[in-house]
Amino acid sequence: MTTAAAYAVSAPDGHFEKVAIERRELGPHDVLIDIEYAGICHSDIHTARDEWGGAKYPCVPGHEIAGHVAAVGSAVTKFQVGDRVGVGCMVDSCGKCDPCLAGEEQYCVPGATMTYNTPVPEEFQPGGYTLGGYSTQIVVTESFVVSIPEGIGLDVAAPLLCAGITLFSPLRHWNAGPGKRVAIIGMGGLGHVGVKIAAAMGAEVTVLSHSLSKEADGRKFGAHHYYATSEKQTFRDLRGHFDLIINTVSADLPIDSYLKLLRLDGTLVILGLPENPLQVKPFTIAGYRRSLAGSMIGGIAQTQEMLNFCAEHGIGAEIETISADRIDEAYERVVASDVRYRFVIDTATM
Ligand code: NAP
Ligand code: ZN
Ligand code: ZN
Repeated sequence: MTTAAAYAVSAPDGHFEKVAIERRELGPHDVLIDIEYAGICHSDIHTARDEWGGAKYPCVPGHEIAGHVAAVGSAVTKFQVGDRVGVGCMVDSCGKCDPCLAGEEQYCVPGATMTYNTPVPEEFQPGGYTLGGYSTQIVVTESFVVSIPEGIGLDVAAPLLCAGITLFSPLRHWNAGPGKRVAIIGMGGLGHVGVKIAAAMGAEVTVLSHSLSKEADGRKFGAHHYYATSEKQTFRDLRGHFDLIINTVSADLPIDSYLKLLRLDGTLVILGLPENPLQVKPFTIAGYRRSLAGSMIGGIAQTQEMLNFCAEHGIGAEIETISADRIDEAYERVVASDVRYRFVIDTATM
C-alpha cells in the first residue's frame, strides 16, 4: 500500500486538515498517479458540507485531477511511467450494463464508482469508501484514466476533467454548432469553460449571468452576447430565442422563466444541482414543444475527445492556484461567486 498526504474535512461544518491516507496496492490494471493539481468543483462543496445527504467523513473531495503516472500494474497497456494523465468524477463502473457498453459509464445502471464518497470494498480503497484528489497520489484502474495532451498545462487542464466534460457532453449531444443559439446560465467554473467550448464549436453563444460584472471576460472567452438576469427586460428581449440553454447555476433558479427563452423544439439542460425540486408549468413546456433535460458529466471516451478538442482549440480553464491550507477560504469564495474562474490546489504544498 502507498501512504499519501491528503486534505480532509471531518464534519459538514468542519475545516480542512492535513491527513495521511492509504491507497491500495497496485493491481495488474492499476495506475499510480502523482497528483500535481486538483480543481475545486462546487460539487466538492455540496458533498463536504453534506448538502446532498449521505456524506462520509473524513471526506477527501476532488475529482478534477491532473498529474503524472508514477507506476503501472503488470498488465497496463495504455500508460507508461511519466505520462501526463487526468482523472475525473469516476474511477470505476460495472462495465456490463447498456450505458457502460455504450461508453456512457456515468449512467451505469448499478451506479458508477465516483472518485470520492462512494462505498467500495476495502481492497479498492482502504477505509471502505473512495477518497478523492485533494491528495498527493491516487490509484485508478487504467480504463478510467485519460491522457492530457501536450499543449495544455496540467494546472489549467485539471478543471476540464469535471467542468470541461460536463459542458462538452451536452453541447455535443444537443448539436451545438454553427447556426445554433446557445445560452449558458451562470459563468462560474462550469459556465466559463462552457462558453469557450461552445464558441469553439461554432455556436452563437450568450451568457446569462446575474450581473454584467464579468461581461468583458465572457466576451474574451468567446461569448457573442451577455445579459444580466437581474434585469426583467432580459426575459422580455430573449423570449423564444434559444435552441439550447445550459443551466450551470449551483443555486435555485425560477426555471420556468428561463424555459420561456427557448424557441420551437428548444431544450434547457440542467447541470447545476441544488437540492430543491424545480417548478415548471406544464404550459411552458407544451408551448413551443420545449424540452427540459439534464446531463451528468460524460463518458471516459468522450472525456478524452474533450481533452483533445481543448488542446486543438487552445482551451484551458481560467484558474487561481492555491496552496492546500487555503481550501476553506476558497470554498467561501466559490459560494460567494468570488472566483475567476476555478480554484486549483497545487498539491506540492501538501
Ligand atoms: P460555481 O463555480 O460556483 O459557479 C456557479 C455559478 O452560478 C456562479 O458563478 C454564478 O454565476 C451562479 N450563481 C451562484 N449562486 C447564484 C445565485 N444565488 N443566483 C444566481 N446565480 C448564482 O459552481 P460550478 O463548480 O460551476 O458548479 C455549478 C453547479 O453544477 C453545482 O451545483 C455543481 O454541483 C453542479 N455540477 C454538476 C455536474 C453535472 O454533471 N451535472 C458536474 C459538475 C458540477 P454568475 O455570477 O455568472 O451568475
Ligand atoms: Zn465536479
Ligand atoms: Zn454499468
